[in-house]
Amino acid sequence: MNNKSGAILVVSGPSGAGKSTLINAMMKDLGDCYFSISTTTRPMREGEVDGVHYHFVTKEEFEKDIQEGHFLEYALVHSNYYGTSLKPVKKALQEKKLVIFDIDVQGNEAIKKQLGDITTSVFVTTPTLTELENRLTTRSTDSAEVISKRIAMAKEEVKRVGEYEFLVVNDKLEEAVQTLTTIAKAARLKIEHKDVQEFIQKWVDKA
Ligand code: ADP
Ligand code: 5GP
Repeated sequence: MNNKSGAILVVSGPSGAGKSTLINAMMKDLGDCYFSISTTTRPMREGEVDGVHYHFVTKEEFEKDIQEGHFLEYALVHSNYYGTSLKPVKKALQEKKLVIFDIDVQGNEAIKKQLGDITTSVFVTTPTLTELENRLTTRSTDSAEVISKRIAMAKEEVKRVGEYEFLVVNDKLEEAVQTLTTIAKAARLKIEHKDVQEFIQKWVDKA
């Protein structure tokens, strides 16, 4: 009964909270899963690779994809477009994989509406706002102006933590990886409502 059509794990949280770090560490231990590579119009950071971290496109290309219905969801985040392509997600779900999304609060809302039945959501954050600022500064991938935009955004995002099923405070990295891995394993076991009647029928018939 479990994992009949795959499952989704949404990971959200302020930029700099450690989502990518946690997801990368967790995926090593998790086995059959698929990380949804988003498409974005934001400039590539140093060390990022097109097609690995994101599909980097122009605003015009992104808007064409919107018109052609290629996105499961998309949003404007920090004045740039970010979107989840429908096709690879559909394929991974058909292959019964756990699909992992690193998307913002707007994306979580959209996924919950469309695929809430198979979705588990986690909000990741730092222990404090000051620590978030430290991490964004230490990461050295964004200008001071971009960092202050992200901090302002974080104050808004954190207000929506109640929309998530789980909260992971990424303080000690190893502990946070363990917690997120546990949640991901549970996400795979989530019961799909549409399967419940079928399960009950089979269970009774076997008596
Ligand atoms: P996000 O994907 O949420 O934007 P990153 O994974 O890029 O965040 O992490 C932001 C920065 O914080 C990186 O430099 C990363 O190495 C660092 N970091 C992640 N987790 C921790 C942690 N638990 N303690 C200290 N630094 C961390
Ligand atoms: P960053 O620029 O730091 O990589 O990401 C900025 C924000 O955009 C993060 O909160 C991240 O979760 C979010 N994001 C990344 N990809 C997507 C996506 O496909 N859809 C949505 N809605 N948000 C995304």
